[in-house]
Amino acid sequence: MNKSIALFERAQRTIPGGVNSPVRAFKSVGGTPIFMQKAKGAYLYDADGKRYIDYICSWGPMILGHAYEPVIEAIREKVADSTSFGAPTELEIEMAELIVSMVPNVDLIRMVSSGTEACMSAIRLARGYTGRNKIIKFEGCYHGHADSFLVKAGSGVATFNIQAVPGVTGGVANDTLTAAYNDLSAVEKLVSEHKGEIAALIIEPVAGNMGCILPEPGFLQGLREICTREGIVYIFDEVMTGFRLAPGGAQEKLHIDADLVTYGKVIGAGMPVGAFGGKKAIMQQIAPLGSVYQAGTLSGNPVAMIAGYTLLKELKQNPSIYRELEEKTAYLETGLRNVLDENGVSYKINRLGSMISLHFSNHAITDFKSASEADIPKFNQYFHHMLAHGIYLPPSAYESWFLSNALSYADLDETIRATADFVRNH
Ligand SMILES: *Cc1c(COP(=O)(O)O)cnc(C)c1O
Repeated sequence: MNKSIALFERAQRTIPGGVNSPVRAFKSVGGTPIFMQKAKGAYLYDADGKRYIDYICSWGPMILGHAYEPVIEAIREKVADSTSFGAPTELEIEMAELIVSMVPNVDLIRMVSSGTEACMSAIRLARGYTGRNKIIKFEGCYHGHADSFLVKAGSGVATFNIQAVPGVTGGVANDTLTAAYNDLSAVEKLVSEHKGEIAALIIEPVAGNMGCILPEPGFLQGLREICTREGIVYIFDEVMTGFRLAPGGAQEKLHIDADLVTYGKVIGAGMPVGAFGGKKAIMQQIAPLGSVYQAGTLSGNPVAMIAGYTLLKELKQNPSIYRELEEKTAYLETGLRNVLDENGVSYKINRLGSMISLHFSNHAITDFKSASEADIPKFNQYFHHMLAHGIYLPPSAYESWFLSNALSYADLDETIRATADFVRNH
């Protein structure tokens, strides 16, 4: 028996379901989750010391690979000066200045400790700013686990087939309106049915929580126009895309301006960090400047800040990283397409930059409905085949894969070979 099986049994005695975040439990793909021990560069090592090529990258943050030396060194040095002060530090200013210098449309930025907190705070701010209650989100988009967002919320919730979420009051759920991703006319309809009632529209500009789904041409721009016309705060949830698609995230890559932007994942280099920021007129409604309350004992934590700061600075100074990541991901895409085509497999690959997902499907994957009509059992078989071959894909068909620049072309070739082996035998 491998150690992960024993650890999972033990974990379930004191941790609900044996995990501290549901998707880790492998419920969607079946089997036992792999317990990790350490990681370096592109590789994870499990409790038995088995090596895996990592395509999750801690769901995004490890964009330059695990245990990235400059980040580890910076943490080591910083932590000796105490782990928290509960008072402001110069490092927080440097972090804010760095972010503002990298991303468009962010005049002011507030640090928090998770993507959930960032999105939850952005919505409260939009409500306070507009004096309106309702928000629009898209089916299959995930914005963290705050009550308002657990309506048609993608991967985690989809994986567990929870339709109406117990614990979320009807009042809260009623203030969340949903539309299908890429369906501009559905948004127009919601807006005209709820004229003057909608505070914010929040979207993953490239969706990563129902597999990777790309915005169709004109979609994000169309939403921009609706929001401007109707006085709705346009929020880009860049928790996945921020600092991954480009130094300036999806706003830069896709040339769309948002009013508020939320960050997480890459921004903390693997430490618990999130942030929300945007236009000055909106952001200055936040306490202590304004009356919209938002706070955090560990917000701007020095150890977390130095980790994120060191990684972001590296990304800013070496924009060629994004070209290299793009080339590697394109190489993987082409390799996968070749073996899938040669074997007559029905599939769709969606990709932008270093976000990519493979769906076993003969129809285009453009929204949550089309994603859920793909051959999910086949993906689950594929997942386990790859895992057995030392390749760690997200344990759900509803997740984007994330590449790191630590991946070598030999790693990519190994991944393509293992996929070829799978399609020949299934
Ligand atoms: C992961 C994620 C979140 C939530 O971030 P946490 O740090 O897990 O709270 C929010 N939005 C998107 C798009 C995400 O992928």
